[in-house]
Amino acid sequence: MEKLLIVDDSAVQAAQLKAILADEYDVSITQKAEDGLHLASSENYSLILLDVVMPGMDGFTLLEKLQEQYITRSLPVILITSLSDVESEQRGLILGAVDYITKPFYAPIVKARVNTHIKLYNYRRQLEQQSMTDQLTGIANRRRYERYSMTKWQEAVRLQIPFSICMFDIDHFKKYNDTFGHPAGDRVITAVAKTVSASLSRSTDFFARYGGEEFVAICFGEPSEKIFAHLQKIRQSIEDLHIPHDESVSEWVTVSIGGVTVTPPAESNYAFYLKIADTMLYDAKKHGRNQVVWADERMKQLWER
Ligand code: GH3
Ligand code: MG
Ligand code: MG
Repeated sequence: MEKLLIVDDSAVQAAQLKAILADEYDVSITQKAEDGLHLASSENYSLILLDVVMPGMDGFTLLEKLQEQYITRSLPVILITSLSDVESEQRGLILGAVDYITKPFYAPIVKARVNTHIKLYNYRRQLEQQSMTDQLTGIANRRRYERYSMTKWQEAVRLQIPFSICMFDIDHFKKYNDTFGHPAGDRVITAVAKTVSASLSRSTDFFARYGGEEFVAICFGEPSEKIFAHLQKIRQSIEDLHIPHDESVSEWVTVSIGGVTVTPPAESNYAFYLKIADTMLYDAKKHGRNQVVWADERMKQLWER
């Protein structure tokens, strides 16, 4: 059941609304706007029904606060107003409410409006999800990576947490396509994505298809030795898939990995470290492929071989 929140200081009014919607939705009630803000930020609601007139923080203020926060910005809010109160309606819609329902409640209309906005919200979420996902592999795509890396980088600068950028590139992949065909190449890309994803499954790990046969990972909060060791295991697990490659280049399909761990100094620039990760990958290729090359916190280079 989808979750829905009613924020209304009148217990009677909230109970009336809940009675109308409870057979289709999992309805929670809070009588204080402050609690509404907290709940909306931490729970997964599909819609909020918000009373305008409340003591303390009123509905408009809560609406503004919901609009300011990234995580609650797109949550649909329906205002509860009284018939006579046209100005409130207008102000609420300008502030970003998707709709309003008037008292006294007419159950079929309340249901219809709520259903419509939840449908629209889910449709939008689905589109957003699709636009952030790589179609071939089902993992995050480049666009999602760009957003994620920027947000996390700022967090790492602020909290002074080690941040690792890691680039993966399948070895001699052009040759693979030439020998086995493009569809077989696609299956290799998918297999690599699946294998790496399974090993980067912590909530502080992020993994995306960067483009073509290249991937990027972001790891948060671990020192370079740990990441370096972990990536060697991942590199080995790709080799252990034992996907036959064109014999003229290698026995199995392998990947080269390059990256950097840094506790980013204030004013530091993400692009600068991305470039370092790229250079490490280049060095791994140059040094024979199927290996990890890393730059640690002191920018000392670590070689697997
Ligand atoms: P290196 O070991 O130096 O990385 O050599 P490489 O051949 O892998 O590198 P290069 O960048 O020259 O070639 C990458 C190849 O990846 C070329 C392209 O045909 C292939 N490729 C890129 N995207 C896709 C894709 O979505 N599917 C398939 N099957 N192949 C792709
Ligand atoms: Mg490449
Ligand atoms: Mg390659």
